[in-house]
Amino acid sequence: MDLEKDTYIDLKNITKEIRKKLIYMHYKANASHIGSAFSIVDLLTVLYFKILNIDPNNPTDPERDRFILSKGHAASAWYAILAERGFFDKKILEQYGIDNGLLPEHPDRLSVRGIEASTGSLGHGLPIGVGIALAGKIDNKKYRTFVLMSDGECQEGSIWEAAISASRFKLDNLIGIIDANKLQAYEKTDNIQSISSLINKFKDFGWEVIEINGHDLKEIFVTLNNLPLRRNKPTMIIANTIKGKGIKIMENNLEWHYKSPKKEQIEEFIKEIGEAN
Ligand SMILES: [Mg+2]
Repeated sequence: MDLEKDTYIDLKNITKEIRKKLIYMHYKANASHIGSAFSIVDLLTVLYFKILNIDPNNPTDPERDRFILSKGHAASAWYAILAERGFFDKKILEQYGIDNGLLPEHPDRLSVRGIEASTGSLGHGLPIGVGIALAGKIDNKKYRTFVLMSDGECQEGSIWEAAISASRFKLDNLIGIIDANKLQAYEKTDNIQSISSLINKFKDFGWEVIEINGHDLKEIFVTLNNLPLRRNKPTMIIANTIKGKGIKIMENNLEWHYKSPKKEQIEEFIKEIGEAN
């Protein structure tokens, strides 16, 4: 099943709203990691509006699909999508990254509804996801567990311990998504561990792996709407993305791992987002 034209337009508009909100949030908090947040907006939009079996009014339903943002430094994008989906009041987004605010720059499970795990210490989301998915199998539950990771994060050893366990336990209810933007804090990921080697490693570790365009809403939807890729195997989706996607001067620019928008840039950034195809 493909995306209906109207649905595609609706989703596209949501991605623009989220990116605009992120500009204001990062400016106000003077927070880093806007590039990391922008690269996952399209993935989060399709997940939260078309794929995940969730109910904002019943956020702890035992049958709900679980989503974990393992690359916790991109928490602003998670908060913005949760607010857009109705998990909490959008006004709370103004508390992102400010002293004594409700929304810390890395996610806290006890902060607002919809945050399934506290993350930010990289490499922990997939092991947590393995535990939740295994519990689901043992309890005969139908829910699925999605873990969104960064490409640089896959240099953590805990990722590979989790990868071994997931195939050992035949967790076809576990879906990993790698935000493959090819950049990490100080480096190109290719200089440390390339995406092609990641693909081969996950295959060797017993996962079913697929590579997609992480900004193509239709491709994301079609892929996520046809899971698992293979019965009795965990799925790894390598989503090729662009760090800072949506603002030309941020795209593929290592500086925007740390920089935040300046007041005089806000208007032009909002305009650029609004005019994007
Ligand atoms: Mg990266």
